[in-house]
Amino acid sequence: MSDPVPKAELHLHIEGTLEPELALDLAGRNGVALPYRSADELRAAYDFQDLQSFLDLYYGLMAVLRTERDFAELADAYLARAAAQGVRHAEIFFDPQAHTARGVPLATVMAGLGEALAAAPARHGVTTRLIMCFLRDEPAASALEAFEAARPWFGTLITGVGLDSAEVGHPPAGFREVYDRARAAGLRLVAHAGEEGPPEYVWQALDVLGVERVDHGIRSMEDPRLVERLVRDQVPLTVCPLSNVRLRCVDRLADHPLPRMMAAGLLVTVNSDDPSYFGGYAGDNFDALRDGLGLTGEELRLLAANSFRAAFLSDAERAAYLEEVAAHRFA
Ligand SMILES: [Zn+2]
Repeated sequence: MSDPVPKAELHLHIEGTLEPELALDLAGRNGVALPYRSADELRAAYDFQDLQSFLDLYYGLMAVLRTERDFAELADAYLARAAAQGVRHAEIFFDPQAHTARGVPLATVMAGLGEALAAAPARHGVTTRLIMCFLRDEPAASALEAFEAARPWFGTLITGVGLDSAEVGHPPAGFREVYDRARAAGLRLVAHAGEEGPPEYVWQALDVLGVERVDHGIRSMEDPRLVERLVRDQVPLTVCPLSNVRLRCVDRLADHPLPRMMAAGLLVTVNSDDPSYFGGYAGDNFDALRDGLGLTGEELRLLAANSFRAAFLSDAERAAYLEEVAAHRFA
């Protein structure tokens, strides 16, 4: 890819950036037995067939992440790859419950991620925010516990809260209390909704949780009243095209609703979700839209500008990034 357009990535799970080579390195260093003998064998396992086989692999491989250094290396490797694809600002999700549940202290996770994020502007030319996500397929009481344990990092390392993991059967409304507490603590609010779940979940994310951005949101297109609301309020949607195809939310990239979403006036952004598992980082998603959906340079420029409009940046940071996007020359 030559000269990628500057962009912000707003939907990225740091645990989903674990490449096979790093997973095997960490397994060796930490004495964790994995049922794969080589990076190629593990890479073949990344070719999962459905959501459940993805989640099994995803949570299984997290076992290799044990120490502060592991989390720092994971985040640093992501930031290097993202920077090479034009990412200038990244708002990174992490799942505290997925680590504390297997005995890794939250302080270890925070120290490792914090080290990599603090070094990112100088080392990679990338500014960052960190968003803690609650696992929606765990009880709301567990989310509240994770939230309270993270208080020491609010407003310093942690900027916001999100809601992720298996969507269907776990509507946003069940997490009202933890979102009320997050709002009271001054945190920014986002949630996954309308990926596999129905438009009703997007309504709940907006009206019950009060989110400022919706992660995915592609099924909003099934509800014209919802589209009207999202357009009126210019609620950003963090869409992940290659993820949607790999998880079969959309059969083929050619069927992806993104062009219709843009035409409807929605504030759409393009992101990678879990890039090591879903076949590409942020720039790869932009390339796929150009090559697979025929998006023009000006449409890609609009998507890049949207990513900065939707980011939790100061006005001065946003203006500077938007100037970089305006100045970009597409090949
Ligand atoms: Zn996601």
